[in-house]
Amino acid sequence: VTFKSLGLIDPLLEAVDHLNYKTPTEIQAEVLPHALEGRDIIGVASTGSGKTAAFALPILQKLWEEPKGLFACVLAPTRELAYQISQQFEALGSAMGVRCTVLVGGLDMISQATSLAKKPHIVVATPGRLNDHLENTKGFSLRSLKYLVLDEADRLLDMDFGIAIDQILKVIPKERTTYLFSATMTTKVAKLQRASLSNPVRVEV
Ligand code: AMP
Repeated sequence: VTFKSLGLIDPLLEAVDHLNYKTPTEIQAEVLPHALEGRDIIGVASTGSGKTAAFALPILQKLWEEPKGLFACVLAPTRELAYQISQQFEALGSAMGVRCTVLVGGLDMISQATSLAKKPHIVVATPGRLNDHLENTKGFSLRSLKYLVLDEADRLLDMDFGIAIDQILKVIPKERTTYLFSATMTTKVAKLQRASLSNPVRVEV
C-alpha cells in the first residue's frame, strides 16, 4: 500500500514525501479509504500509530476540494496534544496554505480571538476553552463546520470534558462527518460515540 494508491491528491503526496513518510502506517492504510468515501470513523489506536495523519489527511483532502469557512474542529484532552495536532495539520497542509488555530486553556483569550479573526480552516481545541470562545468571542461560531474529530476520547472523558463536549455537539451542524479516536473503548466512550457518530466504520490496530 502506498499513499498514492490510497487516493491522496498531489499536494498531500508532496507533503508526506517532504515529511519523509515512506509508507502509510496500519491505521492510515485502514482509515484513509473509508474517510475519503466520507464515512464516520471510530479509530481504536494510540499515540505513535500515526493516528493524527490518519484523520488530518482526509480532512485536508476534502478541504482542498471545498475550501470555505471554518472546516474542521479537533478536540483534544491536553494543550500539548492540541499543539502537536495543529503542527501536523500545518506540515501536511503547507502546500495548500492551510490556516490552523489552537484554542487551549491557560493562555490569553484575546490573542486566540485575534487568530480566529483571521478565519482559520482548522481549529484544534480543548473543549473548555472552545466553549469559552463560543460564548465570548464575537463573530466566532461552528456553523460552517464539516468535520469534528474527538481525539483521545477516553482521556477527554477521564478529564471530565463530557459536559463541555455535549455543549459543543449542540451547536455544530448535524450534517457533518465525525471521527472518534481512542486508545481504549470504555462504556463512556461508547456512549459518546452513540451521541456523536452516525453509522461509523470501526478500525482497530
Ligand atoms: P501519532 O500517532 O499521530 O502521534 O504519530 C506519531 C509519529 O509518527 C509522528 O511524529 C508522525 O509525524 C509520525 N508519522 C505519522 N505517519 C507516519 C508515516 N506514515 N511514516 C512515518 N512516520 C509517520
